[in-house]
Amino acid sequence: MVPKDGKEPFRKRLVTLAKKQTVAWAVTKRQLCDLQLLLQGAFAPLDGFLCRNDYESVVHTMRLENGALWPIPIALDIDDATAEKINIGEQLMLTNGEGVALATLQVEDKWQPNLTREAEEVYGSVNPFHPGVAYLLEKTKLWYIGGRVEALHPVKDYDFSEIRLSPCEVKDKFKELGWKRIIAFQTRNPMHRVHFELTLRALQNHDAGVLIHPVVGETKPGDVDHYTRVKCYKALMKYYPKDKALLSLLPLAMRMAGPREALWHALIRKNYGCTHFIVGRDHAGPGVDQKGLAFYGHYAAQHLLKKHQEEIGINMVPFEMMQYVKNRDVYVTQNELKADDDVQSISGTEVRACLAEGREIPGWYTFQEITEILRSRYPSKHSQGLTIFFTGLSASGKSTVAQALLARILETTDRKATLLDGDLVRRHLSSELGFSKEHRDLNILRIGYVASEITKHGGIALCSPIAPYDNIRKEVRKMAHSYGA
Ligand code: ADP
Repeated sequence: MVPKDGKEPFRKRLVTLAKKQTVAWAVTKRQLCDLQLLLQGAFAPLDGFLCRNDYESVVHTMRLENGALWPIPIALDIDDATAEKINIGEQLMLTNGEGVALATLQVEDKWQPNLTREAEEVYGSVNPFHPGVAYLLEKTKLWYIGGRVEALHPVKDYDFSEIRLSPCEVKDKFKELGWKRIIAFQTRNPMHRVHFELTLRALQNHDAGVLIHPVVGETKPGDVDHYTRVKCYKALMKYYPKDKALLSLLPLAMRMAGPREALWHALIRKNYGCTHFIVGRDHAGPGVDQKGLAFYGHYAAQHLLKKHQEEIGINMVPFEMMQYVKNRDVYVTQNELKADDDVQSISGTEVRACLAEGREIPGWYTFQEITEILRSRYPSKHSQGLTIFFTGLSASGKSTVAQALLARILETTDRKATLLDGDLVRRHLSSELGFSKEHRDLNILRIGYVASEITKHGGIALCSPIAPYDNIRKEVRKMAHSYGA
């Protein structure tokens, strides 16, 4: 029997798809975020991945073919093998990494995009120092397909599920709270006093409620992980006036596209029922390039959103750069500064150095609870895990030095250490591998993975393989660095 909504039951639809031998595509992390937001209506008016005409139009004009404002191309990239198997008019099954069928995509278009032009127009750059550009030019597969998506199985997130609210759920909460004016705050960083001050000011100035709406999908590589950040946001909520702030997580995959991204963020928050949107300095900016030059102007995002806020139907709440003034013990914006003010600043790098060296983070910068959460995630250097990687030709003395160091560490400290010696690893982890470049790389990557796990859990990994290729050594260094030294 077909239910009232006209849809076949889930199990029956799966059986039908299996019988048709539907081609499947395991979505990437970014695609999973996009799919989830498409299915929840957070990307309205989009109801699927963009078809070619809409894609071209979005890339060139920031609008869909029908004229609706939409600044970021939401495209589904697939590899050659899948592109060969799937044709226009067929259904593509979208699965997660475990093979669970999440949705179907009714294929309306399939084409090979010009990714360099997409980078130029969307990001205004083809410089791979820009993380959005790097993703596009280095990770994106060469085919795009477009078409409507339909849910088969809900995307399941096991972390913080009670605050991962859909647009409908967020709107219901607003109703319960009786909020009419609602200011959204976007962030991809832990929130410190400056973020608290600007959200508090915004809600007081507009007599509104504030939706703290941090991104927990993909953010800029190297950012603080979302588990740690969400703990910080939760700790902060008690400082807001009662019933004036709501925390909900947004599974968005950011592109770090600065001004275009700010428009996109505003459109998304409009879909969550917000009436106002905070845009401060360098909103969704990717930082600087290899010469230290910013990709976008500090206030470029504000300028672009100002032009389009009416059309979107959301009011921008702009903020100039806010800073702490020691002599008055307040946070002020640039235009509120007085001539003899003693402005304090501390960069993200300095905060990390404080944590690494076990130094105090100043109280004016953040709340004690947040310092503690960051301190337990980033312990000081002497208690962090680390990887020591010896490399050199066969018989150059790597293993001897590594063994001597291991003995010394175990003898003189209470640290836990493991030796991942070349021969040992070949025997236990990589016995099937030979000595071609491909196999050598794979062997080193396996060592790197195990070492990074040891590092993550606070141990010391000593590695001593012959690692003749620089690129793979760098890859391993990156793996270990994300968890320790
Ligand atoms: P994003 O990368 O999405 O901009 P951030 O967490 O860096 O995320 O910033 C969140 C918001 O807060 C942005 O609108 C940003 O412009 C604003 N913001 C952050 N720090 C300041 C500051 N010191 N002064 C003014 N605005 C700020």
